[in-house]
Amino acid sequence: MRVIPASAKLDNVSYDIRGPVLKEAKRLEAAGQTILKLNIGNPAAFGFYTPDTIINAVIGSLRDAEGYCDSKGLLLAREAVARDMRKKGVEIGAEDVYIGNGVSELIMMSMSALLDNGDEALIPAPDYPLWSAAVSLAGGTPVYYRCDEARGWNPDIADIEAKITPRTKALIVINPNNPTGAVYDRQYLEAIAGLAAKHGLIIYADEIYDRILYDDAVHIPMAAVNRETLTVTFNGFSKTYRAAGFRTAWLTLSGDRERTAGYIAGIDELANMRMCANVPPQFAIPAALDEDRSIDTLTAPGGRLREQRDLTVRLLRNIPGVSVVEPRGALYCFPRIDTGRFGVTDDEQFVMELLRSEQILFIHGRGFHWFEPDHFRIVFLPDVSVLEGALSRLDRFLRRKTGA
Ligand code: PLP
Repeated sequence: MRVIPASAKLDNVSYDIRGPVLKEAKRLEAAGQTILKLNIGNPAAFGFYTPDTIINAVIGSLRDAEGYCDSKGLLLAREAVARDMRKKGVEIGAEDVYIGNGVSELIMMSMSALLDNGDEALIPAPDYPLWSAAVSLAGGTPVYYRCDEARGWNPDIADIEAKITPRTKALIVINPNNPTGAVYDRQYLEAIAGLAAKHGLIIYADEIYDRILYDDAVHIPMAAVNRETLTVTFNGFSKTYRAAGFRTAWLTLSGDRERTAGYIAGIDELANMRMCANVPPQFAIPAALDEDRSIDTLTAPGGRLREQRDLTVRLLRNIPGVSVVEPRGALYCFPRIDTGRFGVTDDEQFVMELLRSEQILFIHGRGFHWFEPDHFRIVFLPDVSVLEGALSRLDRFLRRKTGA
């Protein structure tokens, strides 16, 4: 019989957050072990619930949400998104907004509509790996620019510039960043906008964590800085509103929409082809964006997210051979391990060993296209007692590796 492999288009695609380490974790669970899964930023799974205003708006909408809606989304939802962007200094209208089934779908659509085979997209390293997958699947080539740990994981502007070629079309910025937790300073955003203007690049700003900020961190929307070229901004319900299962998100277009009219027509076409996004949660977008600020309580001093971030950083820094830049936003830490001290040459092997020995699942840095095998990502969503247990098991595991 004919053997049918997966499409060769998937050859360069990997999504390790749900990849081989998760498969191994599931195998261990099936064998009766209890695994603490810190591989995915899924707030509801850790008791961070969707605000009632959003739930009630969705429930109340069901009778009106039976049919397809406009392929770009309900007007009331798109107006709310445009209003929210205008509050941030970005002049757009409802016609510049597309509602999607999660930022994930919108990333895929935006890359599919853009890239010809061999076109290049500049992606941060470390990245949120869906970006790399979407670029590859669309026929493009991901080209990684370095984010600089010594500068709070801000992007290395010289490295971005050095990697721009005539085939570069897209410059992707994830801010606040997954996996590093960096919140970029204005000077870096301005420099990125300058490069986009100089080389005629579209900027893709994944800002899904824009309201998950700690201490005095301020999020500056890329679209408010980049006035010269097109900015495509992404945001949604999954993190700030803790409703990842609703699969609801939006994409906005701002800046130069004239020279990119052909590309925008391509996005329209892809939006039409998938009919429309899931309709019921769209009715809750005005309530979320106009009214809900419950995330602020979680990130303020004494709030659950803030406490968990503080504890994670403190306990990591207590482990000899581990260092970490304190995250200023999002839900993750991206600690560095001293590979010489622990004899680590393959970071995937490292997280596999940790999983088998301590029943905790982290994701290795190379899963985020980081260049060296010396980092891994922790999701700090579990409550402090669970985090304490997890980090003491990590400490024990690392001590054993050095014979201490
Ligand atoms: N972008 C980033 C940076 C993320 O971290 C995630 C999810 O973790 C997504 C996009 C996907 O979001 P969604 O649930 O809206 O598809």
